[in-house]
Amino acid sequence: MLHHSEKNKSFEMACRQKNLRVTPQRIEIYKELSKAKDHPTAETLHKRLLKRMPTLSLDTVYRTLGTLAEHGLIHKVDTTESQAHFEADLSKHHHVICARCGRIVDFDWPVVDESELPEELSNWGHVERRSLILHGICRDCQSTH
Ligand SMILES: [Zn+2]
Ligand SMILES: [Zn+2]
Repeated sequence: MLHHSEKNKSFEMACRQKNLRVTPQRIEIYKELSKAKDHPTAETLHKRLLKRMPTLSLDTVYRTLGTLAEHGLIHKVDTTESQAHFEADLSKHHHVICARCGRIVDFDWPVVDESELPEELSNWGHVERRSLILHGICRDCQSTH
């Protein structure tokens, strides 16, 4: 994994490549997201950022995450919840989500990444990214119910 300051530098470069303005707010939001391991929502991230950026609005966090996701600088993790979850980790991985506590856990699944696509997809077009989401009940939640 890249060192944090290197990561920020490559973030700034990626922004410039996509013609996105590099603002201090964008950098801070990205920095906070890349520190997070829990795939936070905009609201969760906003709460964390407020400690050092007391004037930052939730709306700015929403819009920034939306813009960054749209340009592929971060990923949106689609859950069944109404609130979107985000991550800055763009490496190949998949997610498993607990329906009770909502915890999202990363895992690798090389078999899925490397296997040939089903024939039905052969004429579909070009698949750019494989990202599976598994749903279930985690062990912690199973043992408390
Ligand atoms: Zn759980
Ligand atoms: Zn993830």
